[in-house]
Amino acid sequence: MTDHTLAIAAAFQACGVEAEVLPDSDQETLILGRKLTSGKECYPCTLTTGDMVKLTRRPDFDPRHAAFFMPSGTGPCRFGQYHRFHRLVLDELGLPQVPIYAPDQSETFYAELGMVGGNDFARLGWQGIVAVDLLEKKLRETRPYEIIKGRTDKVYGHFLRRVAETIAARGDLPALLTEARRAFEQVPVADPGSRPVIGLVGEIYTRANKFSNENVILEIETLGGEAWMPPIAEWILYTNHTAIWRARRLRKYSNLLELLLTHRVQTRLEHELENTFRGALRNFGEPSISETLKRAQPYLDPSFEGEAILSIGKATDYLLKGASGLINIMPFTCMPGTIVNALLKRYREDHRNIPFLNLSYDGQEQTNTRTRLEAFMYQVEQYRRRQPLGA
Ligand code: SF4
Repeated sequence: MTDHTLAIAAAFQACGVEAEVLPDSDQETLILGRKLTSGKECYPCTLTTGDMVKLTRRPDFDPRHAAFFMPSGTGPCRFGQYHRFHRLVLDELGLPQVPIYAPDQSETFYAELGMVGGNDFARLGWQGIVAVDLLEKKLRETRPYEIIKGRTDKVYGHFLRRVAETIAARGDLPALLTEARRAFEQVPVADPGSRPVIGLVGEIYTRANKFSNENVILEIETLGGEAWMPPIAEWILYTNHTAIWRARRLRKYSNLLELLLTHRVQTRLEHELENTFRGALRNFGEPSISETLKRAQPYLDPSFEGEAILSIGKATDYLLKGASGLINIMPFTCMPGTIVNALLKRYREDHRNIPFLNLSYDGQEQTNTRTRLEAFMYQVEQYRRRQPLGA
């Protein structure tokens, strides 16, 4: 899905489990995924199916020594069905012996993750996710202004690799991130921060996966913008939040205690790593989940679980930090994505008509996406001019 998976694979390795990240999605992924799905499934389901099956076709794939890692959930949409569908596909392909390890993102999530390496796996994986989030933030704030083309990607790629190595070796991550910050700061740039900021929200897989969104961030940068994206850590913190709420309601006190402790440790680790980039990011610091939900409350009640509420709350965070446009990224027919699309229209009216664009993807390359983005960026420029200084 994202570069964060390199850090997760490294956390597996640190806990003694051989792990590798599936190769990036490509046209072969799409062809295989389409062949094995009916066309009614969500686009991320088609892509993850294609990616898995692509790997099983590799000559060195040994079904006796392989398992897939595919998180699951019991939330309000189809995500919890992905791994069940993958199971059917693997069985049909004659690979019933290949397990799918699918921890459920509910009140039992950390207990299920504990199967790998106790609390260690969850801790290392979490640190890796936060570290990659920080590298990505700095990448997106530097690359649009670089004077030597490709320099920022090089720095990012180098430190992404080293984050994974450091996690696998249980090394010093804060020291590495401090080094990364210095390296990013040495990239020659012109007028940093002068471009309009576009805040991306929407369905987590499609917005984070370059293949599925046809590299929308690069498109925005080519058209003169700077793109911001919610960190992947936000989703983990949100699942903690809903799991804590559910454990309380169901009176599962041992799960509740474990969740509260995990959440506390994660927040501390997050701040420790985040501090290495203090003063180096315009988009520094993330609102707490309670804050995000509060900001979304005029549009959605927190009992309405899922990605929609996070997208609405995050949009406000972007506005407060000075964004000049919002884009909702979603797979075609995504349920939370469709809700966000509908709500952002009203949200926009309540917020000085900030330019807003909805982009949905289904793997058919949309020839008009570029034109729509161009028109959107024009509106963004007009919007910026209309804003009073300091607004
Ligand atoms: S969030 Fe959207 S794409 Fe993801 S499972 Fe739910 S409906 Fe499908």
